[in-house]
Amino acid sequence: MGKKQKYIFVTGGVLSGVGKGVTAASIGALLQAKGATVSVQKCDPYLNVDAGLLNPREHGECFVTRDGAETDLDLGHYERFLDIELTQKSATLAGRLLFNLIADERAGKFGGQTVQLVPHLTQSIQEAILKSSQDSNSDVHIVEIGGTVGDYEGLSFIEAIREFSQRNGRDHCLFVHVVYVPFIGTSKEFKTKPAQNALNDLRGFGIVPDAVVVRSDDPAPISVARKISLFGGIPEENVLLMPNADTIYRVPMIIEKSGLNKLVSDFTGFQNKANLSAWEKIMRQQSSKPKTKVVVGLVAKYIDNEDTYMSVVEALKAAAWHEKTGLEIRWINAETATKKDFKAVDALLVPGGFGKRGIEGKIDAARYALDNNVPYLGLCLGLQVAVIAAARKAGLVDANSTEFEPKTKHDVVYIMNGQAGKESTGGTLRLGDYPAKLTAGSLLAKTYGKTDIVERHRHRYEVNQKYLAEIEKGGLIVSGYSPDGKLVEFVEAPKNTYFVATQAHPEFKSRPTKPHPLFVGLIKASLVKK
Ligand code: GLN
Repeated sequence: MGKKQKYIFVTGGVLSGVGKGVTAASIGALLQAKGATVSVQKCDPYLNVDAGLLNPREHGECFVTRDGAETDLDLGHYERFLDIELTQKSATLAGRLLFNLIADERAGKFGGQTVQLVPHLTQSIQEAILKSSQDSNSDVHIVEIGGTVGDYEGLSFIEAIREFSQRNGRDHCLFVHVVYVPFIGTSKEFKTKPAQNALNDLRGFGIVPDAVVVRSDDPAPISVARKISLFGGIPEENVLLMPNADTIYRVPMIIEKSGLNKLVSDFTGFQNKANLSAWEKIMRQQSSKPKTKVVVGLVAKYIDNEDTYMSVVEALKAAAWHEKTGLEIRWINAETATKKDFKAVDALLVPGGFGKRGIEGKIDAARYALDNNVPYLGLCLGLQVAVIAAARKAGLVDANSTEFEPKTKHDVVYIMNGQAGKESTGGTLRLGDYPAKLTAGSLLAKTYGKTDIVERHRHRYEVNQKYLAEIEKGGLIVSGYSPDGKLVEFVEAPKNTYFVATQAHPEFKSRPTKPHPLFVGLIKASLVKK
């Protein structure tokens, strides 16, 4: 038996998407800053098995862990706030658990019993929480429950964490409920009724939270906290008013200055003062008034939901803070992009993506950067469009990827070995960490500061090495392969100042305090040109 771990459960009421993930991650960051080891887990009541097939426009980015789990973007927050690498064990979806339960039923493992949400699904949720926490052997395991309390599909999860606290001891479990308080413009008041109802809902399921985080767009008066305290039965010092912050990385410090600091310190036993200097440094960088500003054009098709490119945006911000420059991300709609849009920015970035829509705009962006020595960073699809642009420049005017033009004569990007027929199926892409070898002396090796690297992946197509001569003629050389030489992992334009692209997703490994070298390289190259 390992040590007795402490559990913090974060649930939400009123609305989803109001910052449960950031709250959970920030409580974790605060505890880490007090010396605790922290692990995290997101439980999602969806009947999906993973987040791989979810529409990014609705759900935001699909975050990929080192072991290749396709997860909710909240795992990205956890990795960035806690600077840890998570695995499949931190992503628990109802669909995955049910899938296994039904397989067990078919295998005759239930010995004639009826299989039910309670106790079977609730039991497997508790086992998943126990396994995730015990494997990490952390001091504190934080569990965020997706959705809002009262959602039909989430009921088994709420029941499961209630039972979990009964089994493991209520004093080993802390419940934090995140609610939202709307401001009604016509009467000029904050309305606490939905939050009160959300607390009643949670109580109705047998959980009285220890703390409530009250989210609002603008600062709410103390009377709001008093009301929620009184009607929710929670001590006022454990009700934290949390209006939108200028940056999410301020939240650990806001929590540290609130009554929740004492609550989590007493609960975990980590009483010492938190060392938040790394976060304070980011705040200083963020609020300083830099003399320079870099405008990065992000050429994308989901420009109405920034969450779709969350890790890319965070990686750019981290690199700009590191270089002490201002940053403006200008969204360029790949479907309507013109040279004028490309000309108006200091650097171009083409992020990952799937499907044909907007693809010509992305190829044009890569071509523009290649021809005009504009700093360029291509991520996964961003490498593939760069290769297509170079092949077209070399004279293969119909060069394409078979993903977008299945019958193209010049398939400079084509489906990876063993992937044919798996299009649109779940969990079948090339996923997670893979090593690559960079050419010594290349710009990429210099940018990384080494030649052996490991990055996370999520793709089905690859560069067709039959066309390397044409691609080179068009201005791009391969500067990194998989160790067996079979897959092109990195390309760069030797004639340009900074034109680099990778088949991987380096954005997932960037941290606010440790920006990724490829993003730093992009910002640096853009500053040099100023
Ligand atoms: N659609 C491309 C592929 O499957 C690129 C994927 C990505 O950008 N993540 O290979």
